[in-house]
Amino acid sequence: MTPAAVPDRDNERVNALRKLNLIGAAADPRFDKITRFLIDCFDVAIAEITLVDWQNVFHIASGGIIQRDEERQISFSSYVILQDEPFVVSDTLKDERFLDNPQVVGFPNVRFYAGVPLTSSDGFKIGALGLKDKNPREFSEKDKKLLLSLVSWVKDEMEVFAKANDDSFKKLSEAEAKSKTLLNNIGEGVIGFDDGGELTYVNRQALESLGYAEDEILGKPVFHVIKLQDEKGNEPTIEQRPSHTALSTGRRTISRNLYYVRKDGTKFPAAITASPVILGERVIGGVIVFRDISYEHEVDRMKTEFISLASHQLRTPLSAMKWFSEMLLAGDIGEITKEQREIIKDIYDSNERMIDLVNSLLNISRIESGRIIIDPKPTNLKELIDSVITELQPKLIEKKHRLGLSVHSSLPLINIDPKLIRHVYVNLLTNAIKYTPEGGDIEIVVSKSGNDVVSRVSDNGYGIPEGQKPRVFQKFFRADNVIKVETDGTGLGLYLVKAVIESSGGKIWFESNEGKGTTFWFSLPLTGSQPKKGEVTIS
Ligand code: ADP
Repeated sequence: MTPAAVPDRDNERVNALRKLNLIGAAADPRFDKITRFLIDCFDVAIAEITLVDWQNVFHIASGGIIQRDEERQISFSSYVILQDEPFVVSDTLKDERFLDNPQVVGFPNVRFYAGVPLTSSDGFKIGALGLKDKNPREFSEKDKKLLLSLVSWVKDEMEVFAKANDDSFKKLSEAEAKSKTLLNNIGEGVIGFDDGGELTYVNRQALESLGYAEDEILGKPVFHVIKLQDEKGNEPTIEQRPSHTALSTGRRTISRNLYYVRKDGTKFPAAITASPVILGERVIGGVIVFRDISYEHEVDRMKTEFISLASHQLRTPLSAMKWFSEMLLAGDIGEITKEQREIIKDIYDSNERMIDLVNSLLNISRIESGRIIIDPKPTNLKELIDSVITELQPKLIEKKHRLGLSVHSSLPLINIDPKLIRHVYVNLLTNAIKYTPEGGDIEIVVSKSGNDVVSRVSDNGYGIPEGQKPRVFQKFFRADNVIKVETDGTGLGLYLVKAVIESSGGKIWFESNEGKGTTFWFSLPLTGSQPKKGEVTIS
């Protein structure tokens, strides 16, 4: 077997071939049509259109049988591209160059070959149009002429193919340009990164918001160049960053409590959505979309301030009304009739409800503005719960509920703010009493679980409708099923309870079945709550 010589300027020849983007066109039917025609026309077993690359010869059509791409050295095509004339081997077994060629001694047992070169528009011989057969045969001058004339058909189809390819490339580039323009003109910042966290795309808004130029951050790791902080100014760990969560879990994450730090060190609060980019089943990168929410934060702060101010102003007249109605009820101003007493008692009760509402609003504005003091003290939870039960005893008796209490026997003293946590028990127990019809069963169980102490307050009352469960901890939420039976309520209790527990280092969750009952659990770390300096406590 003698390998064919390598033509002059082979590098340029291969470059010319690659520029045509034909390698990979194998499945295109327009080339198959030609080879099928050749088989009929010349009555051979195989007709092929090949491309001669550096090391390999690729078949873009091979009518007759499926042929694998070949090594250039053992291919007939590499001889074809050495000459302008047709290259013919009438009997391979009589030709020293081929008698031991694997294509001759093995599949597809080629005994006859004839091929003509295919040239690119710049004159390089890029491949061959070839015929193969299992029997030796002659190839007349007429046959050669016919084969040569068919080269122009192949060339025409190659041009059509290249143009079609070019069109789809253009369409793709157009679509890419459109999406880029779109992304550059939306009001949200968009940041794209690959699976290693390297920044691959940043839109105009993101650059403007963060104060960077594109070349300062592109190609760098998103976790290091785009700085984040929490409310307290601490940097989240890489694992806590939304971009990391999107990559590691393959799920979309939404965050509203992080701040982006600009290049100049100033920061702004952002609503961040980080989504993974998934190809097949693999996460190949992610996209962050963010919006500066400074304005919302400011409006929120002003609203909190307004509520706080309004509530303070309301407190004084309400206290006066409480005091005066108490005096009237006690008969300090003079004897009152039974009827008058009933009316004054109504005024007193309504006033109490107003005081409760104002206190709740004040507490919320205090906790939202972060001015609340957390003052942990070693606390005996059993004693604390006992005092709550004593306070709520009249309500329990009025509704004829049975109450069970069980506190883990070897519970140590826990370092919590007793005033805040008392508020949590009062609220949960009040709800259990209110939202359970007369003669219900209520249970409080406090147990140790891992590093936490978990309290459970359950009842067999009205329950919470399935569809409304996600709103339970929202401000002013009151479920439809209880509004009519229990008119007394503000929908602020659980919102405050959740805020208190979370600022004490704990968590709260619940389960409920409408018509069967509700259980709330909350955990507090056995290690206790972190103290916090502030200005006010809750009332
Ligand atoms: P309020 O009790 O003042 O309405 P909360 O914030 O304490 O406000 O509770 C919000 C709502 O959650 C209640 O109005 C009620 O619909 C529902 N809820 C809370 N606790 C229970 C419970 N134990 N059983 C049934 N529904 C409850």
